[in-house]
Amino acid sequence: MKTIDDLAVAGQRVLVRDDLNVPLNGGRVADDGRIQAALPTLVALLDRDAEVIVCAHLGRPDGKPDPKYSLAPVAARLGELLGREVRFAADTVGPAARAAVSALQPGGLVMLENLRFNEGETSKDDTLRGRFADQLAALAGLYVADGFGAVHRKHASVYDVALRLPHAAGYLVQAEVAALNRLTADVRRPYVVVLGGAKVTDKFDTIGSLITAADTILIGGAMAFPFLVAQGDKVGTSLLDASLVDTAAGYLEQAVRAGTRIVLPPDVIVAAERTADAPHQVVSAYAIPADQIGLDIGPESAQLFAASIRGASTVFWNGPMGVFELPAFAGGTRAVAAALTGSRAFTVVGGGDTGAAIRALGFPDGAFGYVSTGGGASLEFIQGKTLPGLAVLDDR
Ligand code: ADP
Ligand code: MG
Repeated sequence: MKTIDDLAVAGQRVLVRDDLNVPLNGGRVADDGRIQAALPTLVALLDRDAEVIVCAHLGRPDGKPDPKYSLAPVAARLGELLGREVRFAADTVGPAARAAVSALQPGGLVMLENLRFNEGETSKDDTLRGRFADQLAALAGLYVADGFGAVHRKHASVYDVALRLPHAAGYLVQAEVAALNRLTADVRRPYVVVLGGAKVTDKFDTIGSLITAADTILIGGAMAFPFLVAQGDKVGTSLLDASLVDTAAGYLEQAVRAGTRIVLPPDVIVAAERTADAPHQVVSAYAIPADQIGLDIGPESAQLFAASIRGASTVFWNGPMGVFELPAFAGGTRAVAAALTGSRAFTVVGGGDTGAAIRALGFPDGAFGYVSTGGGASLEFIQGKTLPGLAVLDDR
C-alpha cells in the first residue's frame, strides 16, 4: 500500500477522504477523537505545500442537504486543532466548493460540506455513484484515503474516486492496518473479544466469524439481549431486535461446537426509563422485570468480564457495556476499560462511541494498545473481509 510519503504533493490539489463522523452536542463537537486522528496526514500535506481539500460525512442524512448534519462545526474544530485557517464550502461539489478550491494556495485547506448531502455518495447504482465520483475527482489531481472508519463502504468518496485519481493511503489508514493486522494472522492467544453497544443489528453477523477467530467473547450492552432471550430469559423493555433471537441461538450452539466461550452478563442494571436520575437497581439477567430497561451490565458481570480480560494476551473491544452517557449506567464500560488498561495484553478498542466512551470516562488513548477510529470497518477488518476502500488502494 502506497502512502503519502510516496506522492509528490507540492503545489498539487489533494483530495483527502477523512472520517470526521463525530458526536455533536448542541452544535459543538462533543468528542474530537476522529478529528485528532486525521491531523498527522493533514499537517504533513500542508507542510509539504499541498493544496488540501478535505471531504467527509456526518451522520446519515438522506442524500440531500440537512442543516442538522452540516460539517460546519467540525470544520471549526479542525481549524482550532490545526491552528490554521480552514475554509468551509457550503456545498460538496457545487459552485461554493469549486470557488473555494480554485482560490486554494499551497499550504491551504478547504473542507467540503457533508458528502452524504449528495445521493450519489452512498448509492448502490454504479452509474449514479460514478457520476458523483467524477465531480469529486474533478476538484483535485491526487486522492488520499485516510477515512479508516468508512473504508468498509463502497461509497463514491471511498471507492470510486480512487479509481479516477492517482492515490495513496494516509498515515491513519496505515496505522490502523498495522494495528489491526495483529488481530488477524498469528494473533497471540488467549484472544478475547468484548462486544456491546446499540447498533446490534448492524454488527450481529460479525459474531459468526468471531466465534471462529476468538477464544472467548464477552457480550454486554444491548448486544446481550438477543442472547439472553435465546437462552429463555425475559428482557423487559430493553432495546431488542427480536428478529435476531434465532441467530443468537445458532451462535450459542456454534460456539459450543467451536470450543469458544460466549460469556453473557449474569446481572443487569435496570431502570423504568433511560434518564439520568431514574431510580435503578441491579437484577439477575434472568429476572429483568417486565416494565424495566436493561441499561448496563451489573457489578458481577463487570467482575467476570474483567477476570477474563486479565487472562488474555490479545483483546479487541467494540461497543460500550451500557448507556455510558448517563453516569448511573457507565460502570460496566468503566470496568471493562480499566481491565484493558490494566492488562499486559495487546488491546485494541474500536468504534466511534466506544472511543468517545473511554475518553469521556478519563482513560487516555495511550493507555490502550491501539484505539481504532473504525467501528464497522475494524470489525470487518478483523474478520478478514475485503474492504472496498482498502482493496482499491492496492490496484496500481
Ligand atoms: P460504537 O459506535 O462504538 O460502534 P454503538 O454505536 O454500537 O457503538 O453503540 C453505542 C451506544 O450504545 C451508546 O450510545 C450507548 O448508550 C448504547 N448502549 C450501550 N448499552 C446499551 C443498552 N443496554 N441499551 C441501550 N443502549 C445501549
Ligand atoms: Mg456508534
